[in-house]
Amino acid sequence: MELTVLGASGSYGAPPAGACSGYLIEAGDTSVWLDCGNGTYPVLQEHLAVEDLTAVVITHLHPDHCVDLYGLHVHARYGIERTDIPVYAPAGVRDALGTLVSNWGNTFAWHDVGDGDAVTINDLGLRFSRTDHPVSTLAVEARSAVARSVDRRLVYTSDTGPRWSVGEFGEGADLVLSEASYLHADRPTAVHLSARQAGEDARAAGARRLMLTHLWPTTDPVAAVAEATEAFGDPVSLAAPHMVTRV
Ligand SMILES: [Zn+2]
Repeated sequence: MELTVLGASGSYGAPPAGACSGYLIEAGDTSVWLDCGNGTYPVLQEHLAVEDLTAVVITHLHPDHCVDLYGLHVHARYGIERTDIPVYAPAGVRDALGTLVSNWGNTFAWHDVGDGDAVTINDLGLRFSRTDHPVSTLAVEARSAVARSVDRRLVYTSDTGPRWSVGEFGEGADLVLSEASYLHADRPTAVHLSARQAGEDARAAGARRLMLTHLWPTTDPVAAVAEATEAFGDPVSLAAPHMVTRV
């Protein structure tokens, strides 16, 4: 299973993290666009022919996680004429995003997902867990379902405060991709994690590796990595556009 970072900026796009939240997860012949934050669609196309996109997953209805779905909609409908692209999202996302299009036509095949749900998308198995965030937000566990492949687990926190844990998916994830919006001393809100909290939670859940993402653009990335590394107990990495990681 491979993770490609399309954008990692928290809440609004800014250098150096680039676009907002968006990732490409690939296993076998399956390619899933996980979160469609603003600015991620052009980056996706640098890594994948859109004809080969298997499905889309949207974790919640905040613009920095979903609005580039409009780019895929127009491209698929009037460009490459693809239909019925599966989109997995919390209930209500289809209608809320639909207020800006005259109608979705048959571009997408929408599937509501919620807390505790599990779906298999060809070679990828996904599970969802409701996080600690103001709108209905789903963390995602991805697991390769390729026959005879090594069993690996990726956990993506999406956006969350500290009252949710990656341990909801069980212990020992191979890679936790965790939001870390702020440094611990600066955190202005309980709806996101500090880098320290990200490190502490991943450690408590026995994660093997931790990658930070969704840093608020003014959060010092060097300090965030240092803070999370101390809390996690092992060196952590920092998501950056075009980074490709084998899980
Ligand atoms: Zn959010």
